[in-house]
Amino acid sequence: MPKCNICGADAEELDTCQACKKKFCDSCGDPADERCEFCSGEEEW
Ligand SMILES: [Zn+2]
Ligand SMILES: [Zn+2]
Repeated sequence: MPKCNICGADAEELDTCQACKKKFCDSCGDPADERCEFCSGEEEW
């Protein structure tokens, strides 16, 4: 099973961030936007 590159959790399906090319689970980014939480914007910091 693949592992999320952000949180390290096992996930059935991972998406690849188009900005940093890391694979992320759906709790670590936006699959529709294909960006991980680090690249999807900094509004939440
Ligand atoms: Zn994750
Ligand atoms: Zn990213």
